[in-house]
Amino acid sequence: MSNSLDQVRNIGIAAHVDAGKTTLTERILFYTGANHRIGEVHEAAAHMDYMPEEREHGITITTAVTRCPWNDHVIQVVDTPGHVDFTIEVERSMRVLDGAVIVMDGVRGVEPQTETVWRQANKFAVPRILFINKMDKPGADFEQALESVENRLEGNPVAVGIPLEDNRVLHLLHQRVYAFSGDNGETVTSESVIEGHPLFERWSEGYNSLLFATAEADVEDDDFEAFAEAVLCEEAISLSDALKALRLATIAGKIHPAFGGSALKNWGVQPILDAALEILPSPNERPPSKATNLKGEEVRIEMINDAPLVALAFKVQMWDGRRHVFARIYQGVLTPGEKICAAGKKNVHERVTRVYDIDANSKKALDRAEAGQIVLLAGLKKTTTGDTICHIGKEFLLESIDAKEPVLGLAIEPQSSKDEEKMLEAISKVCEEDPTLRYEEDAEKGQRILRGMGELHLQIIFERIEREFNIKLRAGRPRVTTRETVQTEGSANVTLNKKFKAGDKDIHLHARAKVHAEPSSRGAGVLAQVKNYAILPEGTNLNAAQLEAIESGVNDSLSGGPIEGAILQDVSVRLEAVEVFGSASSPQALRMVCAQAVREALINAGGARMQPIMRIEVVVPDEYVGGVQGDLLSRHAEINNQESAGTGMRSLHGYCALEKLLGYMTNLRSMTKGRGTFTMEFDRFDIVY
Ligand code: GDP
Ligand code: MG
Repeated sequence: MSNSLDQVRNIGIAAHVDAGKTTLTERILFYTGANHRIGEVHEAAAHMDYMPEEREHGITITTAVTRCPWNDHVIQVVDTPGHVDFTIEVERSMRVLDGAVIVMDGVRGVEPQTETVWRQANKFAVPRILFINKMDKPGADFEQALESVENRLEGNPVAVGIPLEDNRVLHLLHQRVYAFSGDNGETVTSESVIEGHPLFERWSEGYNSLLFATAEADVEDDDFEAFAEAVLCEEAISLSDALKALRLATIAGKIHPAFGGSALKNWGVQPILDAALEILPSPNERPPSKATNLKGEEVRIEMINDAPLVALAFKVQMWDGRRHVFARIYQGVLTPGEKICAAGKKNVHERVTRVYDIDANSKKALDRAEAGQIVLLAGLKKTTTGDTICHIGKEFLLESIDAKEPVLGLAIEPQSSKDEEKMLEAISKVCEEDPTLRYEEDAEKGQRILRGMGELHLQIIFERIEREFNIKLRAGRPRVTTRETVQTEGSANVTLNKKFKAGDKDIHLHARAKVHAEPSSRGAGVLAQVKNYAILPEGTNLNAAQLEAIESGVNDSLSGGPIEGAILQDVSVRLEAVEVFGSASSPQALRMVCAQAVREALINAGGARMQPIMRIEVVVPDEYVGGVQGDLLSRHAEINNQESAGTGMRSLHGYCALEKLLGYMTNLRSMTKGRGTFTMEFDRFDIVY
């Protein structure tokens, strides 16, 4: 085990949009000396939000990694975007994190994207602590926010740093109360809360509930079990034993230590940094990653230098006009100048020219990267997001990252036709960086279409292409991506009987196929049953080429739907019978007849268009609920839940077709004098009636 890694924390800060991630991160950079001044989001100067588009829109889009020294440790902060259009970025960073700080708005508690990031953290078993932010706002309620974590996330929050009314924090595990002063809250003073201190009783109560909550977590570890036993027997427990137990339970994902404060008011941020060191795991303390060799056999990957290189490329980014790859090293060592490959891809063999340490928008060359580090690699032209980087011949595959399906498309073209080629080049570059983007050419309509995760996503890509590649573009109206399915059952019994001449040869194609199609449940995909069908005349044996042709024929017609050839989904197709007519039932004949039978069965089953349906949440002041609800109903939204969202606010939850929501943000703002907020997340493709 590398010793220095014990001093490293790779953490992410994740939250619903506007909860205060960027504001918190700016404080972290300032207090750790990684940045010399605090850039405020509303002044468009935040350090981590360094792309011009991010500053303009006041949101965080790209993942940036920054190293922050704190008490002889290094905290590597991966800032994650909050807007749901960019969830792939959050998912990618979750994949490489060892711990996360989930930031929540103290008034709102859990919000829709808090749920999304929570699910992603669950998926990668990322230990987390909670920062209940905005405690300076009227209506903020620490306890209520923790309850929402319990109820909406099925989390197990336990208060560790309780925010007090006068901008102090009562730290249960330090048995101290902290205050923050100086222009930017950089001066931390504290008092020990011993018997006789006005807060002693509050501490003692809190400490006891902390002990019991921790002891109830079920962690398989001898020290932990001894601790739990001691708590149940009401023995005195030292602060250091309590911390050890809480740490084990947090790393095991059984408990979520919570802190409160206000990033904007510089209240309670340093305890989060301490907690990252004291409670969250170092790379060494994470379970080994799952990987396989090229034969698919499971192998153990360990965070050691003395073993073959295994690294995950988790982001591709252009930097000073050059392509760079963000990678996390899981095992082994990588030095500049070495030749690497993307495991399992024969054509991706290339040289890493430089290895950098990353700090938001500057980089420092390193002479080697070791297991557990997150670094930036230059020189790689083909290695891409999701690839496992290895030395040639010693290849292992880490679990890859799944990209989401783009739901919205935008037709784009250059304003001047001489920029044609430049635009295509720009598109191929941005698509490479971002696996949630797709580029398509619609030959029929003569359109080029860029597909992405939402309006904001596409708008920002559009602005980037214009700025970075210096092209003026024209865009069409955004259009939702559609899918097709069938409405009912349908069959087709097709006979092909064709004679023609090819050169001086007489060709006869003769075969029959019977196919049945029916809808299947949402999300089921396409199921093709090409087995156990009847073969006529009875006793006929088909050869391998014929069998393969039958299967290909069925699949040929499953790539597009019966209406306009959009991707087919949630359909089950069964080949029922094939009839052969001697040598005229060649593979070619069988393939053609099967393809045609499937096509006709789909048409007979009644094609239906499916649209992206979004899960929505709209938060508005009470006085606008009626109007907003009426407007949503006119968009055919289905609202199935309403609840209070802090003083004077209500939140509406439900589903709505994406098509009806285009431009909704602007509408909502004008309906609520700018006070309403709206978030959505892809739920499914479905038929809209
Ligand atoms: P992000 O979207 O999660 O990165 O959130 P930002 O850091 O961009 O913050 C969103 C807005 O909330 C900005 O206007 C911040 O100034 C404001 N904000 C952030 N933290 C606090 C806080 O602790 N208290 C208050 N009152 N406002 C805050
Ligand atoms: Mg931000």
